[in-house]
Amino acid sequence: MSGQPHPASYYTATANPAPDRSALNAAIDVDVCIIGAGLTGCSTALNLIEKGYSVAVLEANRVGWGASGRSGGQMIFGYACDMEKLENLVGPQDSRLLWDVSIEALNYSRSLIERFKIQCDLKSGHLHAAVKPRHQRALECWQQELQTQYGYTGLQLLDRQTLGPLLQTDAYEGGLLDPNSAHLHPLNYTLGLAAAAESAGAVIYENSAAERIEYGASPTVTTANGRVRCKYLVFCGNAYLGGVEKSLRRKTMPVGTYIIATESLGEQRAHALIANEMAVADMNFVLDYFRLSADHRLLFGGRVSYSTLAPSNLARAMRPRMLKIFPQLDDVKIDYSWGGFVSITANRAPHFGRLRDNVYFAQGFSGHGIALTGMAGRLMADAIAGTAEKFDVFTRIPHLSFPGGPVFRTPALMLAMTWYRLRDLL
Ligand SMILES: Cc1cc2nc3c(=O)[nH]c(=O)nc-3n(C[C@H](O)[C@H](O)[C@H](O)COP(=O)(O)OP(=O)(O)OC[C@H]3O[C@@H](n4cnc5c(N)ncnc54)[C@H](O)[C@@H]3O)c2cc1C
Repeated sequence: MSGQPHPASYYTATANPAPDRSALNAAIDVDVCIIGAGLTGCSTALNLIEKGYSVAVLEANRVGWGASGRSGGQMIFGYACDMEKLENLVGPQDSRLLWDVSIEALNYSRSLIERFKIQCDLKSGHLHAAVKPRHQRALECWQQELQTQYGYTGLQLLDRQTLGPLLQTDAYEGGLLDPNSAHLHPLNYTLGLAAAAESAGAVIYENSAAERIEYGASPTVTTANGRVRCKYLVFCGNAYLGGVEKSLRRKTMPVGTYIIATESLGEQRAHALIANEMAVADMNFVLDYFRLSADHRLLFGGRVSYSTLAPSNLARAMRPRMLKIFPQLDDVKIDYSWGGFVSITANRAPHFGRLRDNVYFAQGFSGHGIALTGMAGRLMADAIAGTAEKFDVFTRIPHLSFPGGPVFRTPALMLAMTWYRLRDLL
């Protein structure tokens, strides 16, 4: 069965050239079969191939079709949950290691982009913006905690006055600027990683959904017209994995989030809006996030949906949110709108592990995967090659299943999220 093309989006319209890859039409044997060609799958493939394994990647649609080719592109330190939560879950020693991995993840992503000369509009700078005075106080405490407990220096706390010249809006009390975090064109980053894995010898099959899996010493994955027998199997399907491995689906919830791209504002107007070209995400639970594109558009994301349906007129639904922050853009046309699913866990910590000795997975980045996915691939490859020290710290994070099964867990989450949404308004 043929998969779907990339959704119409700003990223698809500005994607670097990439080949059409053929579907799997044969029975093949490899060391490692990877399910999913997003950032996690491509990084896993690259790292394994460089360690000498033969690798086949099965992608149900196209490379980067999932969250990796649709995301806000904000490459940020840390995790979707705060470090205090991680410390409570795994203790101070492991949480320190998790923190270090999150910073290593930023450096690793940059190194991949540099090494493989991936043209993906990488720009440094990210701001957590305070919508309310309590957010600003929280940012101040956070800066101190990260500096004293984790040795992370370089964060700049901005108040209204110091933020003013950087960001042309009155919406925020201030913010915490991290010059080390960044933003990029996520589809081009994914396509670049895929090309790097292929040039090293990995084979990626598009339009090749894994439909059935038989586990054992040599797991076998069946697609519509082929099968892969392997020594190791790695799940990288994240929010889009569906029912092929139900135990993974229970631990995460797909949550829809949406982005609009304005027409090009021109260099001058764009830079007046965000003078230092940083990416911005606010501190609300149901957050707004935005940044400039390389061709001077505002890419503005936010809004969530817990039904798995996209709003019928996305641009109309998203525009008021953008105008609330930047009312001066009232005359500006929206050229693109799209959405995708973020895979969230109940505790918002990432969910990595093994289903069996020879079956690995990484999922549940909870909207914080641009940097961590590259690292997830590296850690899974290390673990398969016998060095699992860092990977196993992630496997020690306890994760609850979402209650209610595929049908009833969404209403349960909606109730929980409504509470958080109410809290955002207070
Ligand atoms: C709109 C949006 C905005 C976001 N913004 C940000 C952001 O600003 N910063 C940030 O850090 N994170 C963000 N995220 C999250 C981030 O994009 C993800 O964490 C990350 O891309 C996950 O990558 P992945 O490779 O694990 O999964 P994906 O990119 O989703 O890739 C999974 C792939 O697996 C394939 N697949 C699934 N099932 C099968 C199967 N049975 N057989 C074969 N293939 C299969 C899918 O087709 C898909 O291509 C955002 C996500 C969305 C949707």
